[in-house]
Amino acid sequence: MAQDSFDRLEASLLLCPQCRVAMPVRKRLLLILPQGNKFEYVCTRCGATCGDTLEPDQPPERRRYM
Ligand SMILES: [Zn+2]
Repeated sequence: MAQDSFDRLEASLLLCPQCRVAMPVRKRLLLILPQGNKFEYVCTRCGATCGDTLEPDQPPERRRYM
């Protein structure tokens, strides 16, 4: 549930596991999946992966489950 609201954020700062502080991140396309594009957030300082997100082709608000 927290994951869902997190995905809506246009993340610019994320907690980096390496730097151990919130760092500016760069969004990088990781995978193209049938249900959307998977991106990962990479720390601009050390290059560690700080998180990832799956962006559906349609905006989540307009998507219907079922
Ligand atoms: Zn870092």
